Amino acid sequence: MKKSIYVGIIAILSLPFIFTACFRNPYKPTNKKHTHQIDSLTDIAELPNNGGIFSDSVKQPPFWVGTTNFGLRKPNFVIIHHTAQNSCEETLKTFTIPRTAVSAHYVICKDGTIHQMLNDYMRAQHAGISKWGNLIDINSSSIGIELDNNGFEPFDSLQIKSLLVLLNRLKQKYTIPTANFIGHGDIAPTRKNDPNFRFPWKLLATSGYGLWFDDTLAPAPSNFNPYIALRIIGYDVKDSTAAVRSFKRHFLQDTSRPLNAVDTLVLFNLQRKYF
Ligand SMILES: [Zn+2]
Repeated sequence: MKKSIYVGIIAILSLPFIFTACFRNPYKPTNKKHTHQIDSLTDIAELPNNGGIFSDSVKQPPFWVGTTNFGLRKPNFVIIHHTAQNSCEETLKTFTIPRTAVSAHYVICKDGTIHQMLNDYMRAQHAGISKWGNLIDINSSSIGIELDNNGFEPFDSLQIKSLLVLLNRLKQKYTIPTANFIGHGDIAPTRKNDPNFRFPWKLLATSGYGLWFDDTLAPAPSNFNPYIALRIIGYDVKDSTAAVRSFKRHFLQDTSRPLNAVDTLVLFNLQRKYF
């Protein structure tokens, strides 16, 4: 009897340790590094030498005047990706290894878990060499969201449900225009195909994230130029074949290459929404 009471007390005393062990964060060392990097960015936000940065080439003011009216720059785009990896754990690890040099603000697992890995105001490294309209440094103006998906599978409904919750928050908080919810494949048509063609862009557009074409499509005039329409939407048409492929993947869930008659009608309808 006494022995069982003793064992019971030991078990109760051990509970906090067992609890702590269960929730031990394996990313503690990289989280510490993350905090240091945030601190160093805050340091460089101050003006060097009280603003006297052109001392050799232009006339200097007699004293420094710092404005009192400023804020942080806001993201204006959301770029959606698939991870092309095999698990959420693999992606979390990838985004904490310096040599990969890639990251995203959010990673959404198949079960709907949302990992925020970076403050929205910071610049993640998810877009790479890309272009949309005349914008090229898209990392500087966007939030990157990675969906755990190897590129060859459908997207889980729990994952999409969480994505919609996140998009709602981001759109409201930063007043992101409806047209500015796009995919990595849209901004880097020669290099990327994510999110894969199974991604439910129409569902997103119905919810207010991204534009979509009408159910009824009017015929295009004989002088209609589909490549100008692609450019109006935002696609980089330097490689027109790649631009068409990206457009078809996003708006028609179609992986075939050439533009067909229906694609042309969709383009004609869609371009007017981007004017
Ligand atoms: Zn991507």
